[in-house]
Amino acid sequence: MDTLTGTRACTHLVSFFRATIDTLHPYVPGRQPAPGTRVIKLNTNENPYPPSPQALDALRQLDADRLRRYPHPLGDELREAVAEVLAVGPAWVLPGNGSDDLLTMLVRAVAGPGRPVVYPTPTYVLYRTLAEIQDAPVVEVPYDDSFALPVEHLVAAHGALTFIANPNSPSGTATPTERLVALATALEGLLVIDEAYVAFADDDALTLVRRHPNVVILRTLSKSHALAGLRLGFAIAQPSVIAGLAKVKDSYNVSAVAARVGAAALRDVEHTRRVVERIKASRTRLAAALETMGCRVWPSQANFLLVRPPHGDAERVSRELAAHGILVRYFGETLLSDTLRITVGTDEEQTALLETLGTILNGGSAATG
Ligand SMILES: *Cc1c(COP(=O)(O)O)cnc(C)c1O
Repeated sequence: MDTLTGTRACTHLVSFFRATIDTLHPYVPGRQPAPGTRVIKLNTNENPYPPSPQALDALRQLDADRLRRYPHPLGDELREAVAEVLAVGPAWVLPGNGSDDLLTMLVRAVAGPGRPVVYPTPTYVLYRTLAEIQDAPVVEVPYDDSFALPVEHLVAAHGALTFIANPNSPSGTATPTERLVALATALEGLLVIDEAYVAFADDDALTLVRRHPNVVILRTLSKSHALAGLRLGFAIAQPSVIAGLAKVKDSYNVSAVAARVGAAALRDVEHTRRVVERIKASRTRLAAALETMGCRVWPSQANFLLVRPPHGDAERVSRELAAHGILVRYFGETLLSDTLRITVGTDEEQTALLETLGTILNGGSAATG
């Protein structure tokens, strides 16, 4: 397996690390097979379609001087594109090396001993890892089976930092904006609304940042803009919050390549709209087909579905799918032990998934992969 996360490094009698790091369970990303491997990859919510042609043109036309020199420290090219496309002031925007980088900045700047990190579970596992690295107390508030936001319990936990992924992962479910307004109003600490999948949803919470000085919106180009490999995301919040976060960022956290290519991708609104519509149509078809096969499918506003196979034997199903070259995500933690998260793919990928799944569920071993 992964030699970097093997146990051997932690079993020395003398450690070079803080105790927190020695006992830390590192975040485990979904499997990334080598490029060119023939698999159907429905495990990490990447976009199955290519990025904007305008973004690819910007990449090809990149000037050598841009690589020779340091980039703008605040990724100004991207800030301006965000400001233009979302009609906010550039001072309200902070780009990061993926939204993971912004999550790191938020935890670093806000959380710590006596300053808890709060979030509903199950959700994005990285929130916990980052809080633990920072030695911040973690309060996990369980969702019920319908993934309705437990607003009162979240407020009662008094987070210095409260994370809500909306739409949530791995459930794909979305919280109505009124519930987020109620939460933002009641919380004293910072509320981060992680909108990684918002392009696939009916609604967004962008307007909240104007009225609520404690709200931070996070967006990423990894999913809706098909640029997970570029590493680019951004935060939107009131300028004083943005200025505080910028204090703790790495000096040049957004590369010249990411700022230029990302700005072109963001401005190609029409391309993104078409790709998102196609994925939403595929999502509807996939959900219906899985339900016909007896699966439970939670209502999704993201580019993936949370699925319970008819007999709840999600681990076996994910193993057998992998044996046929189809990767889906199995989390294995208690609340999710009978479910799979399946990324919406192309129609061909989904046809292959459904055929193989049909064979697996009927007890046979699927003939092809
Ligand atoms: C994918 C994802 C991210 C990370 O996005 P990057 O910009 O690729 O770092 C953040 N939050 C959630 C909920 C995600 O699913």
